Amino acid sequence: MFYSSIPVRHKRNWRLYCLCFPILLLSVSLNGCEGGTMKNHAAIPADGPLSPVQFWEATDLHYHDKSLHDDGTAFQSFVSSGDGKQLPYIDEILDAFVYEAGIKKPDFIILSGDLTNNGERASHKSLARKLARIEEQGTSVYVIPGNHDLFNPWARAFKGDRQVVTESITDKDFTDIYRRFGYDEALSRDRQTLSYAVRAAPGLWLLMIDSIQYDNNRRLGHPQTDGRVLPSTLAWIDSCVQTATEENARVLTVMHHNILDHSDINIPGFKVNNSGQVLKNLQKNGLNLVLSGHIHMQDIRRKLTDGDSEIADKKAVYDIATSALAVNPHQYGAMTFDPMTGRTTYQSTPVDVEGWASSAGLTDPRLLSFKKYAEQSFMGSSYKKAYKSLRDSKFSDRDKREMADAMARLNVRYFAGTAGSGSGDLLMLHGFKLWSTVNKGFLPRYIRSMAQPKALSNTSLEIILNREQP
Ligand code: FE
Ligand code: MN
Repeated sequence: MFYSSIPVRHKRNWRLYCLCFPILLLSVSLNGCEGGTMKNHAAIPADGPLSPVQFWEATDLHYHDKSLHDDGTAFQSFVSSGDGKQLPYIDEILDAFVYEAGIKKPDFIILSGDLTNNGERASHKSLARKLARIEEQGTSVYVIPGNHDLFNPWARAFKGDRQVVTESITDKDFTDIYRRFGYDEALSRDRQTLSYAVRAAPGLWLLMIDSIQYDNNRRLGHPQTDGRVLPSTLAWIDSCVQTATEENARVLTVMHHNILDHSDINIPGFKVNNSGQVLKNLQKNGLNLVLSGHIHMQDIRRKLTDGDSEIADKKAVYDIATSALAVNPHQYGAMTFDPMTGRTTYQSTPVDVEGWASSAGLTDPRLLSFKKYAEQSFMGSSYKKAYKSLRDSKFSDRDKREMADAMARLNVRYFAGTAGSGSGDLLMLHGFKLWSTVNKGFLPRYIRSMAQPKALSNTSLEIILNREQP
């Protein structure tokens, strides 16, 4: 049976919800509850007008609620020892994102996991309030979890010089907190996982695939990084695609983990563990576009059908890994879809934090020139790591500084998705050339892989989203 027996609640019951869940809905304006400005997402009809839609995909927001830190030494050292996430300004980045959505008014926004820093309940709750504001502006939001979002033993608050364990959430909490952002309007939910299918527009279904493994997190003491798609979920995908095909809709696939390698360096835990099996399933079902995240950098790859030439390979599967919203240059994918032709476009777009800050009358100079500040800050953290890795090397201190500088500059472009095609200038740097004389260790290999030229753009794409024949 396609329509799962899990009861799916619909937004038509708004009034009932307001009575039953007063606390959850505190942030929702009364206007919304009465249906005034609130879009009734559940009512997107299969046979509505087939007009082009605009939508965004953002990922790895790693939102950390302001109440969870006091900007003390514990927080600062957590941030500086981290992987370049702009946590001190994550609240402002999200507010700018909400503001930009209000101006550009995409039809819907997809968030493909790692919504929170480390699954803190307070972060989830506070993020859901921001997402409610997006929906009040008329844009639907659809979320799935990432590996950091559930049962996370790393959930922390930061007080002075101490890290304090704080509450994470369960899978059930996730569907409660985000009920309005996908789970309520789901056409079908997978029984075993938090995957669901939703009609995002007439002629377009989203398969929101949950690839997360969280059952062992408590025992492990950390969130499990690697993901998989369960065989039962693959069977559920088959039935979803069949139903979508019957209503002549095309299907876009979303998951947190990647389906293809996005680097020459094979890093375990990036691709779903059973990527070969999942890829076969996607190809069988004619699903040719996956939106993913998880790796925090911007990269687009495609898997060509064996034996086919690159040109006009209709069975090629694309995986767009959008860079983390929490990481410089804080971008999302602005997308369009035309249900008549299936033409689908993608363009990396940085959030205009400066524009939001000045329109809000803020005075923090970092926010008012955020593009520069965020880039410097990200470059600074890359520089420190690279310099530290060279500590015991034979290079002079001047050489070490030049090498760290070259690495930091390249890393900025790598995360933005612009390194492969346009880094000729950096490859000429003395510091970069010195890296190629080092053979040992991860970093030199990583740096060489960052500079690999690449034919396919990482920041824009235009393809025809496939449609199966009923
Ligand atoms: Fe992440
Ligand atoms: Mn992740």
